[in-house]
Amino acid sequence: MPWVIEELFHFAERDYRDYLTLEQIEPTCRYRWPDGTQFNAWQQLPQLVQEIERVAPGEAENLFRFLAYSARIYNAVAGTFLLRPFGGIADALTPQMLRNGPRIDALRSVDAAVRAHFRSPYLRQIFNRYATYNGSSPYRSPATFNVISYIEVAEGGWYIHGGMYQLAEALQRLAKELGVCIRTQAEVVEIVLRDKRACGVRLRDGQELIATRVVANVDPGFAYQYLIPGQNAMARRLRSLEASCSGFIILLGVDKQYPQLAHHNIFFSADYPAEFRAIFDKGVPAVDPTIYVAASCISDPQHAPTGHMNLFVLVNAPTLNKRVDWRREAKAYRDLVVHKLERMGLEHLHQAVQFEAIWTPEDIAQRYNAAGGAIYGLASNNPFAAFMRPPLRASGIEQLYFVGGGTHPGGGIPLVLLSGKAVAEQIISEMHGYKV
Ligand SMILES: Cc1cc2nc3c(=O)[nH]c(=O)nc-3n(C[C@H](O)[C@H](O)[C@H](O)COP(=O)(O)OP(=O)(O)OC[C@H]3O[C@@H](n4cnc5c(N)ncnc54)[C@H](O)[C@@H]3O)c2cc1C
Repeated sequence: MPWVIEELFHFAERDYRDYLTLEQIEPTCRYRWPDGTQFNAWQQLPQLVQEIERVAPGEAENLFRFLAYSARIYNAVAGTFLLRPFGGIADALTPQMLRNGPRIDALRSVDAAVRAHFRSPYLRQIFNRYATYNGSSPYRSPATFNVISYIEVAEGGWYIHGGMYQLAEALQRLAKELGVCIRTQAEVVEIVLRDKRACGVRLRDGQELIATRVVANVDPGFAYQYLIPGQNAMARRLRSLEASCSGFIILLGVDKQYPQLAHHNIFFSADYPAEFRAIFDKGVPAVDPTIYVAASCISDPQHAPTGHMNLFVLVNAPTLNKRVDWRREAKAYRDLVVHKLERMGLEHLHQAVQFEAIWTPEDIAQRYNAAGGAIYGLASNNPFAAFMRPPLRASGIEQLYFVGGGTHPGGGIPLVLLSGKAVAEQIISEMHGYKV
């Protein structure tokens, strides 16, 4: 969704191209299956159609039927839900939302809708995987989330030259130019309340910063549990809701070239439903996981020395629970993932590793204060989950707002940027006394 970045800079009367270089990458993603089948998701439509006809003869027209269907969902949810402030379930009961109800296809699962459109098991698995973009299961999340694959196919897959961190750098530069003071290494230990109003934050070093409004970017579940005094009931309520999945990450520097890799790669499992049952029903890592491998050096050669590659390896994992002790199991799970990649074509990966770091769900939880290590806040594994996310405006506490992946509209970089815009609009509307 490059327009989200473009629009953000535009609002600040800047041109994003002076700060960032966005480029489309071909293919958006390369998919592989255990039976040796490979599929390139080309952005160029003629190539994509050819690729579909190669792997799933006769199904290109199903892609167009699916895109027409998912475009209807996008048009129904974009204006009313995705692109504007959302204050909770009451906001869903507008005449427009109710009119659009049938179009958003919330009463069947992503998988049911995908199966209704495609016959090929390969295409079904590709389109089901988009539910994981917000950390959910395609077998349980509402078909409304087919909007994600629509956005990727219609708007393309984009890369920020230099890597995702360039976006953080660019936003920092822009914020500073606009007079924003950014403090880092300043951990907030309390959101200070007076008469049920947020009036500042207390830092780890004891300093108190006074504020007329507090916008918390930390996961709301964590904030209610640890940062806002007297909020045990709300913390319990959020803990009782299902979290999105976490991740098991291996960062590798290898002294070998794997020309079979694209920038984004998926190595699928043989039994997709079993994988989601393990993660969401049993709370354990999948024995045959789908593995995502990003090799940013393919788009940015300076990301690895000549003859080497930098590989970011990610597997969906359950959020923290008593069934998994990651400190004991991380090494064995790492070996399982590396062996699977070797079996699926990355020969001698184990021997090629020169540098390695592993992040388990525990590391994600600690590093980002993300409840249970969930990557995308709450899961969207039922038709009402999107409306159950903590709203932008904290309930029962004046002058406190949430922003980011844990609140509205959800996780992932574009949605997090839209969340920032929505909360800014919310605050401006309150300051000037009009309804957004
Ligand atoms: C392994 C992984 C892979 C991902 N892949 C993708 C992807 O491919 N595409 C995509 O769009 N999204 C992806 N995401 C999700 C994306 O990174 C998140 O949705 C997004 O970063 C959330 O933004 P945020 O601002 O809400 O939270 P964060 O990025 O977590 O920012 C919150 C910040 O608050 C800080 N903080 C927390 N507590 C405190 C405190 N008490 N005091 C001060 N500071 C505090 C944290 O240190 C952090 O810097 C991925 C996430 C992970 C972990």
